[in-house]
Amino acid sequence: MNSVQRQRTFWRVAFFVLFVLAPPLDLFRFDLDAGHFILFGHPWTLDIRDADALTASMNVILRAFLPIALVVGGGIWLSWKYGRLYCGWLCPHFSVVEMINALMRRASGKLSIWERQPLPEVQTDGVEVHPQRSGWLLVAVAVLFFSLLWAVTLLTYLLAPAEVWGNLFSGELTRNQFIFISAATGLLIIEFTLARHLFCRYGCAIGLFQSLVWMGNRKALVVGFDRTRATACADCDMSCEHACPMRLQPRQIKRKMFTCTQCQQCIQACERVNEPNGQLSLLRMVSDQCALDVSERDFGYRPEVPASCFQRRSVSDR
Ligand code: SF4
Ligand code: SF4
Repeated sequence: MNSVQRQRTFWRVAFFVLFVLAPPLDLFRFDLDAGHFILFGHPWTLDIRDADALTASMNVILRAFLPIALVVGGGIWLSWKYGRLYCGWLCPHFSVVEMINALMRRASGKLSIWERQPLPEVQTDGVEVHPQRSGWLLVAVAVLFFSLLWAVTLLTYLLAPAEVWGNLFSGELTRNQFIFISAATGLLIIEFTLARHLFCRYGCAIGLFQSLVWMGNRKALVVGFDRTRATACADCDMSCEHACPMRLQPRQIKRKMFTCTQCQQCIQACERVNEPNGQLSLLRMVSDQCALDVSERDFGYRPEVPASCFQRRSVSDR
């Protein structure tokens, strides 16, 4: 695992833990009974019931419009510059997607049941997976566990977490709690098993929003491909494509990588292919002028790529 993937693992694990623990620790949740948010242990209300007009207006601006503007504005800025960074580096759904991908590959040789051909058991980048049918048991356990965990966690964002977890462990869920958890777990089992990539690609509003903003900035961070050395790919089994959890083709132009999550798994794969031979990866994250080659290259148009785009670091510098 390279240093980028180590950092990404850290952030994904930390955010998943935060996602689960935020309600029980009262860091962030909506209390359905009380009818207001709880933020860092304090009620987050508009407090306008008995306030005069001026105070009420100020409260609405400061406690509703301003936080929403900050979150949306921050999200737009991040997506504009870095694309779907949230998806690849934080999102608790994408963490489950990647984990189930890996388990399915151990069971079937494929990252999802919709793929026609299994991936090579031994890849050019050194990844070696010999599928065993017994691996399906682990897939089933993981899907069930994470579906239930997700369902219970979602409910704790709405109802008192101590009550939900307490009722779950003592087997005394109320009728409505039981219906919510059962229905949500069932839907998530289907989604995690059959449609997890499809949800990330087409079903998630947060992902779609980030992709649309990112597409608007032709100089945003993007996976770049060193076309001058494209012949080196002839000896490779497309390890970068096999590594992509979104099932994209990382050597393509940006328009065809609309749902790229900036996870950089493809870059790690290419490093593993080329660095043992003393060569640099053909893929790397590029931005600004270098990104134009990926963003504008289409319909016969070939923007100039500065020579430095893929030569910044030598292998021995790492
Ligand atoms: S193209 Fe590369 S960075 Fe984008 S999702 Fe696929 S592996 Fe991750
Ligand atoms: S870009 Fe790298 S990993 Fe992808 S096919 Fe070419 S050499 Fe292989």
